[in-house]
Formats: sequence, C-alpha cells, structure tokens
Amino acid sequence: MGLSGNAGQRSEARRRLIGVFGGTFDPIHRGHLAIAQFALQEAELDLVLMVPAGRPWLRDEAPMASAEHRLRMTQLAVENEPNFEVSGVDVVREGATYTVDTLVDLGDEYGEDVEFVLVLGADSARQMDSWERSDELRRLCSVLVIGRPGEERLENLAASHPAYGARYLEGPMLDVSATRLRSRLAAGEDVSDSVPGAVERYIRKNGLYGA
Ligand code: ATP
Repeated sequence: MGLSGNAGQRSEARRRLIGVFGGTFDPIHRGHLAIAQFALQEAELDLVLMVPAGRPWLRDEAPMASAEHRLRMTQLAVENEPNFEVSGVDVVREGATYTVDTLVDLGDEYGEDVEFVLVLGADSARQMDSWERSDELRRLCSVLVIGRPGEERLENLAASHPAYGARYLEGPMLDVSATRLRSRLAAGEDVSDSVPGAVERYIRKNGLYGA
C-alpha cells in the first residue's frame, strides 16, 4: 500500500475507515502523534479518533494528570490536524476503561457506515490477552499494530491471542515514552523535542508533573 492517500478517488459506497487510538496520554507526546499520522496514511484512514482513557485498569498507578487535563492536552496536540479528532467517550463513562466499551460506544455514535481500525503500539497489543471481552472487541474492529523501540515484533503469538493475525507495521519508531517525559519534566528539563509546543505550555501553566 502506498503512502499517498487516495480517499477522493474511492467509491462513494465505501464505508468510512476510522482509526481509534486510545491511550492514557499522560501526557500526549510526539511518539503518539507520529504513529497516529503514520496509521492515517498507511491504512488510508479517513479519520483518527484520539481517545484518552478515563481510568486505565492495567496500570498499577492512576494517571498523574486528571482525565480533564489529559483530554485538554490531547485536544491541543491535534488542534491543527484536519484528519484528527478527540473523543471523550472514555472520560465520561464511569468506572474502569475497557477498550471493548470504547468500541461499543463509538459504534453507537457513528452508526453503520463506518469501520473501526484499532491502532495500538506493540507493547499494548502484546497485553491484549489480558483485556476484558477481547473476543467481542475483535468482532468490532480490525487491529493495526505499530512497532515501538525496545519492543519485539509481534511474531510467534499463539493463535488464541487477540492480536494474532493483526496487521503489523514498523512505523516511525520514535523512542519517546510518557513515563520518561514525566521524569524529565519533574527534573526541570526542556521537553520540547518530545511534546508539541501547545501541550508543553499547558503543562507548565497548570504545573503538571512537577514542571
Ligand atoms: P508509558 O511510558 O507511561 O507507558 P506511553 O508513552 O506508552 O506511556 P500511552 O498513553 O500508554 O503512552 O500509550 C498509548 C498508546 O500509544 C499505546 O498503544 C502505546 O503502545 C502507544 N505508544 C506510545 N508511545 C509509543 C511510541 N513511542 N511508539 C509506538 N507506540 C507508542
């Protein structure tokens, strides 16, 4: 598949392809944006929905920034990106955030004429075998896995693993992580190489992560 999108030439009857890219986004960083942009082009998506988690259940600790701050930072990060939107479905839903619920809610919102492509980094995809109702999830979307530095390719997965058979693309391989960014911010470092300017200004204005 080429890198240039050809949405305009596609048949009118084609269903809209919507990428669903969830994350804690604590904070959102250039690694996230690079893989979302890559997925948009490479999978010829019509739109990427960025979906900040309300209460991620696989993590030992709660996110450092509130859901409202993480939602706002995500909006700032994509405000000049025409093919990106931010969804608050996981922030408004009560309780732990399960991706299967995200897809059910988005299905209700977007109706019949769309197909969802779940976009995941390789580390998240590997964890899918511990996700809630993963069989149901796999019926609601296709899965596109993007490589991440330090993570192995998704080979040798058992056929019963929910990521088995998912499309894998290496992608831009930017070595950025939110955990490392939070430490750098707390240490007073400049993080403009890894975070969009508007997000960094928001972090500093609101004193997030000890910045
Ligand atoms: P942390 O460092 O705390 O684990 P994170 O940087 O992975 O955070 P998340 O919000 O947990 O950020 O990630 C959301 C999604 O983005 C996940 O699917 C994750 O695999 C993917 N992801 C994050 N950073 C990268 C990266 N640099 N390359 C590829 N995928 C990434």
